[in-house]
Amino acid sequence: MAIAEKIKLTDYLPSDCAAGKTLWIGGEWESAADAQTFASIDPASGHELAQIAQGKAIDVDRAVQAAKVAAKTWAAMDGMARAAILRKAAELIREHRQALGTLDSIDSGKTISETAGRNVDGTAGMFDFYAGITDKIRGSVIDMGPKTTGLVEKEPYGVVGAISPWNYPMSNAATKIAPILACGNALVLKPAEQTPLSALLLAHILDQAGLPKGVFNVVTGLGAEAGAALVDHPGVPKLSFTGSTATGRRIAAAAGQNLKSVTLELGGKSPLIVFDDADLDAAASGAVTTVFMNQGQTCTSCAKVLVARSLVGSFISKCQEKVAAIKIGDPLDPANDLGPIVSQVQLERVKKLLAQGAAAGAKQVELKADYKPLDGGNFIAPVILTDLDPTNPLAKEEIFGPVMAVYPFDTDDEAYAAANDTQYGLAASVWTNSLARAEVARRVINAGIVWINCVHTLSLNTPVPGRKASGLGSEYGWEAMDNYMRLKTTVTMFGGYQGLF
Ligand code: ADP
Repeated sequence: MAIAEKIKLTDYLPSDCAAGKTLWIGGEWESAADAQTFASIDPASGHELAQIAQGKAIDVDRAVQAAKVAAKTWAAMDGMARAAILRKAAELIREHRQALGTLDSIDSGKTISETAGRNVDGTAGMFDFYAGITDKIRGSVIDMGPKTTGLVEKEPYGVVGAISPWNYPMSNAATKIAPILACGNALVLKPAEQTPLSALLLAHILDQAGLPKGVFNVVTGLGAEAGAALVDHPGVPKLSFTGSTATGRRIAAAAGQNLKSVTLELGGKSPLIVFDDADLDAAASGAVTTVFMNQGQTCTSCAKVLVARSLVGSFISKCQEKVAAIKIGDPLDPANDLGPIVSQVQLERVKKLLAQGAAAGAKQVELKADYKPLDGGNFIAPVILTDLDPTNPLAKEEIFGPVMAVYPFDTDDEAYAAANDTQYGLAASVWTNSLARAEVARRVINAGIVWINCVHTLSLNTPVPGRKASGLGSEYGWEAMDNYMRLKTTVTMFGGYQGLF
């Protein structure tokens, strides 16, 4: 029996919310206007966790109206007062470590060691980081001559619509919520339908931290209904989305109709290059980490692994050794490193891509992970492939599963060409002991973030600016603040105006 089957949601969530009133609108737990619900499923067992309110356009509208009113109060608050609330939220997030971690684990299949560990640290850190910025927002003054002054101010948008994904439910939501609030906006969050639970506890925590009611609202529901309604709502001038490139394109197109500003953090097909002078053990550790962590469901995963031909055999042996130490099973067991894939649909997608690769001659390396799937769960063991044709869909599309593809290369130029041969431009990881190579790689690779002799090494202050089909704008750091404020220029003349006529 999966541990999740023994969990009572009322131990983790406010009772109204645990009973299916999962819309958080204007500081109240509500049902959908038409009372419709959908099931949230535990991916480790297939067991139903909860019935979730299936919000529609009418519910999104109620949330946007509440946010519109509250946005005025929030924007008018002194930055120090806003900072105090965000800091309190960070403190409460740490206090609710086990509850937040458990909700994300049972909803998404992520392991508890990750969710209650670095994911809670990152989520709380987001609130602390942006609490440190919210009272330091400044504009600028432009000298326009002796009698004229130009002022450039940064203003919040008012209401921001945030749509978050299922792969890092709590941390990805916080990556939006904290800077959006720090800029003085109210927001309506539509969490992914697969993983709505931790957003509900975050709503309760922000309320407890003293956030004025209506500043943060959550509308649970489906992408095509609640998500699309948020994108189309005329009262939402700014959208922030993290998810697949296909959905991102749809959202950008819809937002384009109303000329809304959009920040998009989308997919990737990121390379990891191992040059012949690399520290092979560290490179293999990086490759196994980036490809298999979170069951491969990480947008910056560098799963296209390009290895200098002379090293391919020893690199694969090292990866085999490292995979043998990975424990896969119940995500709520703290001993496990990996759990199941988020949903049956995603698992079937990964299996289909693997079948397409196999049909085109890709070979699977023998792996012996400690693999203990649970009955009814969406488990899949790690896969390393060789001999994959670079034109195969498995080699071109984002897999979002635990699948590494290893390609040999002979020259540096060949490695860079393969690294850049993708519609995406999110991340890259390069392993070399040559300073010259590292410098060339940094310049030549067309991606928003290039890691040299490391991978996924980030701080809250490190922007991740996706290029090409990987996104628009940048999350994390000071740069995220630019997403959620718009400029206002005022020109004042102290007498002496002379018009053309
Ligand atoms: P996946 O296809 O893996 O489920 P998506 O990118 O479609 O990933 O989902 C990410 C987020 O986008 C989720 O919150 C989802 O509900 C939302 N979403 C999906 N389709 C739309 C849409 N047409 N408009 C707005 N949001 C959407």
